[in-house]
Amino acid sequence: MDNWPIMTLSGGPVELTERTLRDQSRPVLYHYDPAFIELYERTCQLLQQVFQTRYDVVMMQGEAILGLEAAAACLISPGDKVLNLVSGVFGKWYQLYIEKYGGETIELAVPYNEAIDPEDVRRALAQNPSIKFLSVVHSETPSATVNPVQHIGPIAKEFGVLTIVDTVSGLGGELLSPEAWGIDLAVAGPQKCLGGSPGLSLMSISPDAWRVMEQKRPAPVRGSFMSILDWKDTWLERRVFPYTPSVSLVYALESVLTQVLEEGLEHFAARHAAVARACRAGVKALGLELWAAREEIAGVAVTGVKIPAGIEDKQLRNHMRDRYGVMISGGYGELAGQLFRLGHMGKAAHPTYLAAQLAILERSLADLGRPVEFGAGVGAAMAALEGWGVAE
Ligand SMILES: *Cc1c(COP(=O)(O)O)cnc(C)c1O
Repeated sequence: MDNWPIMTLSGGPVELTERTLRDQSRPVLYHYDPAFIELYERTCQLLQQVFQTRYDVVMMQGEAILGLEAAAACLISPGDKVLNLVSGVFGKWYQLYIEKYGGETIELAVPYNEAIDPEDVRRALAQNPSIKFLSVVHSETPSATVNPVQHIGPIAKEFGVLTIVDTVSGLGGELLSPEAWGIDLAVAGPQKCLGGSPGLSLMSISPDAWRVMEQKRPAPVRGSFMSILDWKDTWLERRVFPYTPSVSLVYALESVLTQVLEEGLEHFAARHAAVARACRAGVKALGLELWAAREEIAGVAVTGVKIPAGIEDKQLRNHMRDRYGVMISGGYGELAGQLFRLGHMGKAAHPTYLAAQLAILERSLADLGRPVEFGAGVGAAMAALEGWGVAE
């Protein structure tokens, strides 16, 4: 197929900047070349800065699902009780990993257009003093919502509970800090808000999490692709690798993290928030309904929009892609067919991408027979961006 899209504005992976593309395509170095060791070391330091942490960081060499499963595999001992917070597809999915590694799930769920209430977490932890872990998705990308992890994590800490946080699409878009938020093990992905290439699991690991991994019953996970401890025993302690890292993906990550920090973490997050807010204004002005039950819980990575009556999800997305070259995501898993998602991550968190995306949405809705006031969505979005780039 050679009709590639003009713009990829999906729920991830997302488009790379030119600089990332260039950096990613540098010659592949031997992983024990001093230049690569130096680059790898620098990448870890940059990652600590972006995570705003002094905890150890580990880059597992596989898409973020590897890091998420590895967290369960390495931390959970048979019989351990895990409070799993569910506000969407990825939250529910985590139960499979909890139980695969012998954990017992206690679920706290809300509808997939809602967010977890920290007070419900407090109640659940108070009722079940034997809970050992809490797992939560920070930015639930398929639902286009965020959970208040900054309030949930500290509650878990009050109860001495270890937290596992999927912030795959949160890092970069939100200013999180594992220490301040009470996150023992965070997993992020380069291919969402950070705007990088897919294929790595970016993890921040607290001393408590290391201790629990070392005490896992019947034995700590070691000598496995799934082992986080292997990275402690090799890279963190001896500056050797457990196996060959994905050299080109590390180049891309080093590039991406450098770009984020050059822009400034706060500016990077604020840019995502501003474009997401403008996107919501555009969607509402078009007479469409946001998927999130309340705007306060809408995420900055993607904007979820209910499929309007009389239009089919696939029909709309295929039309936008095939006729106009704009690739967006639909609902995922249980949410398939119920919403579509407009993407604004990485370089696409910018007025130009938003304007094009909303304009093509308007054109496509009209093509499919829905009455549209052309320019209504784009206009409202641009009006909401007043002040963009001023005072910089
Ligand atoms: C993208 C993403 C993942 C990784 O899942 P893939 O299906 O491999 O893309 C995990 N959790 C969240 C919240 C994500 O957005």
